Amino acid sequence: MPNNAFKEIILVSMPWPLFDRPSIQLGTLKAYLKKSFPHLNIGAEHFFLKAAMAIQYPIYQAIAKQTWLAEPFYGALLYPDRRHQNEGLFRKEARKHSILKNVDFTAVCRKLKTISDAFIADLLQRPAQLIGISISLCQLTSSLYLIRNIKKRRPDTIIAIGGSFFSGDTGPNFFHIFPEIDFLIKGEGERPLSQLVEYLMAEKPLQNMPLPVGVYAHDRLQPQRKVSPFLQVKSLDALPAPDFEEYFQLLNSFAPTKTFFPTVPVEASRGCWWSAAKDKSRRNGCAFCNLNLQWQGYRIKDPLKIAQQVDHLTTRYQTLSVAFMDNIVPIKGAGKVFAAIARLKKDLHLFAELRASFPLKLLKAMRAAGMREVQVGIEALSSGLLQKLNKGTTVIQNMEIMKWCEWLGIANISNLIIQFPGSTPKDVEETLHNIEFAQPFRPLKSVRFWLGLESPVWCQPKAFGIHAVFNHPNYKVLFPTRIRRHYQFSIQAYRGDIGRQRKLWAPVRKRIQQWQTDYHSLHTGVRFEPIIGYRDGGRFLIIRQRRPQAKTLTHRLVGPSRAIYLFCEKHRSLARIQRQFPNISAAELHSFLKMMVAKRLIFEENDQFLSLAIPVRPNSH
Ligand code: SF4
Repeated sequence: MPNNAFKEIILVSMPWPLFDRPSIQLGTLKAYLKKSFPHLNIGAEHFFLKAAMAIQYPIYQAIAKQTWLAEPFYGALLYPDRRHQNEGLFRKEARKHSILKNVDFTAVCRKLKTISDAFIADLLQRPAQLIGISISLCQLTSSLYLIRNIKKRRPDTIIAIGGSFFSGDTGPNFFHIFPEIDFLIKGEGERPLSQLVEYLMAEKPLQNMPLPVGVYAHDRLQPQRKVSPFLQVKSLDALPAPDFEEYFQLLNSFAPTKTFFPTVPVEASRGCWWSAAKDKSRRNGCAFCNLNLQWQGYRIKDPLKIAQQVDHLTTRYQTLSVAFMDNIVPIKGAGKVFAAIARLKKDLHLFAELRASFPLKLLKAMRAAGMREVQVGIEALSSGLLQKLNKGTTVIQNMEIMKWCEWLGIANISNLIIQFPGSTPKDVEETLHNIEFAQPFRPLKSVRFWLGLESPVWCQPKAFGIHAVFNHPNYKVLFPTRIRRHYQFSIQAYRGDIGRQRKLWAPVRKRIQQWQTDYHSLHTGVRFEPIIGYRDGGRFLIIRQRRPQAKTLTHRLVGPSRAIYLFCEKHRSLARIQRQFPNISAAELHSFLKMMVAKRLIFEENDQFLSLAIPVRPNSH
């Protein structure tokens, strides 16, 4: 018997996701549920956008970038008696941000409370029996505030939560510390949530419900709770295009001065092939990464389907900025995907995350399709450290992709992890040495290592010189003891070599700041001019090497020198170069390469060589 009273579900995303794009989680879930239950009203409330507008976009965006800046606001609303500690945490973190230094914490809290309470009152006017809340990093206290206030005023509303915050095996403890939650969905939500809805529509008592795979229930509903496996969609191609209707309706309701052109999120895959690889001879995935706990295996969409969705979403929402939400964009099928996107003949602005092994041919295809910004998994410029990180890439690969991004005009906004536990003085020395070769390219951003729950480092702390792991002390500010003691939060802290690492990496931090200053001082002209660029004269090559606060150097390479330099545009092994140039003696070759490395025109790693100059001639795709 269908339950005629069950008419509506509301999905909610609370602050603090990036405000300028709708929630991919809400969009995909809504579209899937709508397809499965055409007669049900399914609302998707991107409430974070309303919050961003209320507290001003630049302030919201700066807060949203960091957990310890974001969580204290709703932390203070959730536990008013802890308001001062929360304000203290925010102030401590905000000192480093010019835009946040003078933000009035109390005034922002007041604004957030006013709009959140009005939003909750509005939700409670609606007949929804089930409210689903997507919770990722930074959305914990805001979501808990929403849940607490809904349950206080309408206890029979069923609350189901899910999202990357609850990946891994620690989710069910949550019911003990936050009893207002009825269901927790582990992994992706489409199938488990649909099964839950189906049951609720059948109007049977919750206590008798056969718990769908992938769903945990509170003890009061299902006392015999057991660890549940994942329930995933088999093929991502079966998913309908995400539905972002409410986000755009909300945006269009704002005054003209408050509207903007958002970025639409698109998924090409779920999971990460590097983390899901079945090669038993090595650890899976990067040592610091816990991004893939909410999925089992690795799934990719059909290339043409991806291009169709890009076309559909940009047409439907009349925007040209698209962000691929994948942990890493798949290499397999990428040629077809980006060729199909290029055929759309739209002036797109695309963003994606890539591994450093992404080949030039595909980068060119991406650029032709409109790729303007990428985050590459560079993470380190030391071979020893890359091994400890289990990145599966080399410094020379990192250097090469940085070079191609520079040439193709793709902004490479990548990170360099510092203070990774177990790093040695040799790793740091090597990093400093290699930065000298990377300085013609867009600078990396130094990011301090943080310990993610259930990341490989967290799972094997001893292997990284870590003696003890525990919740990050900032959770003491956000939550009372009874909660902290019973739950392992996603950001962990540890005892190990933290002080030593801080000292060790101080010169790298400083060098990166200098790199940023130098790079920007060399790019002040109206026209982009590479820091090391070459012009090819057919039989000779002229390389111009610009230097900060120093005279520009010019080098001419003639005949075989030119040919070798061009051959090393892609990194090549010494043996391969020797085979290519059999008439050049090993001694001559060695001395030429050594000289080019000394001039920092070629980078060398373990007898592999890469030319650093990029063609002055722009890429014609
Ligand atoms: S950091 Fe990126 S490449 Fe490494 S395991 Fe995580 S998602 Fe995969």
